[in-house]
Amino acid sequence: MNTKMSDYLMQTYARLPVAFVRGEGAWLFDEQGEKYLDALAGIAVNGLGHAHPRLVSALCEQAGRLIHTSNLYQIREQERLALRLCSLSGLDRAFFCNSGAEANEAAIKIARLVAHNRGIENPAIVVMEKSFHGRTLATLSATGNRKVQAGFEPLVTGFVRVPFGSAEAVATLASHHKNIVAVLVEPYQGEGGVQIPQADYLTKLRRICDENAWLLMLDEVQTGIGRTGHWFAFQHGSILPDVMTLAKGLGSGVPIGACLARGIAAETFVPGKHGSTFGGNPFACAAALTTLQVMEDDLLLENAAKIGAFIRADLLQRLEGVAGLREIRGQGLIIGIELDRPCGDLVKQALAEKMLINVTNDTVVRLLPPLIMTHEEAALLTEKLAALIRAFLE
Ligand SMILES: *Cc1c(COP(=O)(O)O)cnc(C)c1O
Repeated sequence: MNTKMSDYLMQTYARLPVAFVRGEGAWLFDEQGEKYLDALAGIAVNGLGHAHPRLVSALCEQAGRLIHTSNLYQIREQERLALRLCSLSGLDRAFFCNSGAEANEAAIKIARLVAHNRGIENPAIVVMEKSFHGRTLATLSATGNRKVQAGFEPLVTGFVRVPFGSAEAVATLASHHKNIVAVLVEPYQGEGGVQIPQADYLTKLRRICDENAWLLMLDEVQTGIGRTGHWFAFQHGSILPDVMTLAKGLGSGVPIGACLARGIAAETFVPGKHGSTFGGNPFACAAALTTLQVMEDDLLLENAAKIGAFIRADLLQRLEGVAGLREIRGQGLIIGIELDRPCGDLVKQALAEKMLINVTNDTVVRLLPPLIMTHEEAALLTEKLAALIRAFLE
């Protein structure tokens, strides 16, 4: 029997016992009016923080003018957003959808259609251990986490898995598999525990893909849109992907995903091959266009790089020599603090201290603060978090 209101929800999440009613910048307020420092930003979504005045007014303006028309008609906001994302990334065309999983579905469909057009039967996509690509059947099949897959068999076939971070493992596949068409990889793994590969990893993957005529497809759903201190994580190096997927930070919380592509991959979808009722509607595109404009005007890439470097350095200084601390790593405002033991309990302890953090891959405290976080807020975060981690490990 349903006794509480929350019983009417399918129990897909073990939710923390707090409900927020209002936000402002890097702060959230619960039903009792208690104030929390948000170091998670809705899982890398609220890059502009909460209730950013320019976003609020742009959304009000757009909602009062036009929310949705369907993709049966031309949508100027969508065209403008595609142009903006292509010029920021160096890619050629964009397809818009409503989530990260959907963006990756589009990428997987592009890879399969490219293979089909080349006469390759049973095409395969190389994916990584510990990866996360979403919860739809194809994307959970691509995901390198058994917990995400268990019970949903039969999985979608056509994925070949190798360890993350090893370009050699990918190169080895080239000699055995004649039907590979693409490599799908996160530049830095988020859900997998904030895993940062060697700096030349993508360059090496690019070379292998070029040598074998495979598509290099980057899942930047978590790392894209300024999170790492560049617009896209691949821009820390000098390569271009063939396909890139985006979602989380793109619409600042208004659902929107994108699959960008260049070259042959950008020309593969023709009318009838893919679509979305909501994808790229004027409202969602206004949210994304405003997000990108505020990021540029307010120098949020620079801020993400600067505040992220401060948080990592300050945490390292405060936790130096503490037994049980394995590593502090990250790039910009995606930060992982790996401990030597499972630390899921730290999330509740942080909540009690009015701080929102996350733990992923059992032993990694993950921080994904809003890109607008100030130095003062970051200093408060590191002070409180370091004390919490120190007490937890002692
Ligand atoms: C969150 C995430 C996804 C899935 O995005 P949804 O919007 O939840 O479907 C896919 N890939 C990566 C790397 C992610 O972090």
